[in-house]
Amino acid sequence: NVRVRFCPSPTGNPHVGLVRTALFNWAFARHHGGTLVFRIEDTDAARDSEESYEQLLDSMRWLGFDWDEGPEIGGPHAPYRQSQRMDIYKDVARKLLDGGYAYYCYCSTAELDARREAARAAGKPSGYDGHCRALTDEQIAAYRTDDREPIVRFRMPDEPITFTDLVRGELTFTPENVPDYGIVRANGAPLYTLVNPVDDALMEITHVLRGEDLLSSTPRQIALYKALTELGIAKSVPAFGHLPYVMGEGNKKLSKRDPQSSLNLYRERGFLPEGLLNYLSLLGWSLSADQDVFSIDEMVAAFDIKDVVPNPARFDLKKCEAINADHIRRLDVKAFIEACGPWLKAPHAPWAPEDFDQARWEAIAPHAQTRLTVLSDITKNVDFLFLKEPVEDEASWTKAMKEGSDALLRTARAKLESADWTSPESLKNAVLAAGEEHGLKLGKAQAPVRVAVTGRTVGLPLFESLEVLGKDKTLSRIDAALA
Ligand code: GLU
Repeated sequence: NVRVRFCPSPTGNPHVGLVRTALFNWAFARHHGGTLVFRIEDTDAARDSEESYEQLLDSMRWLGFDWDEGPEIGGPHAPYRQSQRMDIYKDVARKLLDGGYAYYCYCSTAELDARREAARAAGKPSGYDGHCRALTDEQIAAYRTDDREPIVRFRMPDEPITFTDLVRGELTFTPENVPDYGIVRANGAPLYTLVNPVDDALMEITHVLRGEDLLSSTPRQIALYKALTELGIAKSVPAFGHLPYVMGEGNKKLSKRDPQSSLNLYRERGFLPEGLLNYLSLLGWSLSADQDVFSIDEMVAAFDIKDVVPNPARFDLKKCEAINADHIRRLDVKAFIEACGPWLKAPHAPWAPEDFDQARWEAIAPHAQTRLTVLSDITKNVDFLFLKEPVEDEASWTKAMKEGSDALLRTARAKLESADWTSPESLKNAVLAAGEEHGLKLGKAQAPVRVAVTGRTVGLPLFESLEVLGKDKTLSRIDAALA
């Protein structure tokens, strides 16, 4: 039975790297009919916040993820917030100490720093040197009278640690590179190094899929796992797979502080969850060489962790937008109309609520659906329908209104007045004919009409837009432009 976990720390805003990790775990669990455990790693009181916790849950729900155990639903290994599991970690730390798997380390920071410097200067490995591994009773007594508060340090085995990473294949870490490490602070607070593998053990996690940044903690966790197995706390060691780094601008690792990495930004711009997840799935994985756009169900059906590649993935916002646009096209028009809902209301909509007209919106919606990249763009694309006056945009005006535009607008107005307003084709022919009279091609002739009526130089197909706006408003806006 496959059991995977998604275990973020509630610090700051959710970012795309976190979403990619959640996605791969979720897809892996669903593909194998396994269990997804959602655990909150909130042991760092200084950095964790309740607000961030709420946001995490809200983001997971918005993305459409479900979990089988975790916050809001509980499960056999509850509680799923580490801040509520402190007694468990204390108990395990005690057992590790009693079994000799861990020891008290009295070294002060200053001493550690000095020895690290000396080792470096001598060209030796600069990790912890095992100073407190085998203290005598006298040494311990001396440290105690000195009032030193010890940390708890895990004793790493003296042999290399080898494991087969699900993404990277066989990896070996030698003891010099993985020194003994702290698991409980001097003030008694357990560290990530302890609580994460302890919970993975207790929650019977079978596969740990997480970012490459955590690769260096894996040999330590495997060693700790072996100790937990000997103590009867863990059943077996899980398999590990490390997802490739995501690179941002300038080929640097995409960082949490990078604006491109903020999940909220994608929500605010009106990405569809399916579009965003489709794109994020491509950061290290692909469905096939010639298909970039697919549904989440297709991804789940095909997802195999063995197909994840270890090379860094490049985050490409343009591609992300293009894939989102494809997902917008894939919606049926009803779903599209519904999805745009929030952007047609306050605070996004600049028109008075009573000026909104559902019938007009539904009439224009199919033309918008084929053109949007993100849903938030709907507002400016349809505002000409609901604002009393078109937006005033000087730059558009100067760009479209040339010498002779007035004359053209007068001719176009006359032809539009006698056109058939139930047919965009007829409206187009009116503007086409007006253009011919003034020696202008359609593109040049329609620019001043568009700006007069919509206030903008770009927008939805013009003649469909005019039809939906209606004859009276179209003509009176042209009049206003001519006045
Ligand atoms: N709470 C850790 C993090 O957010 C989890 C790391 C892991 O998956 O082991 O980085």
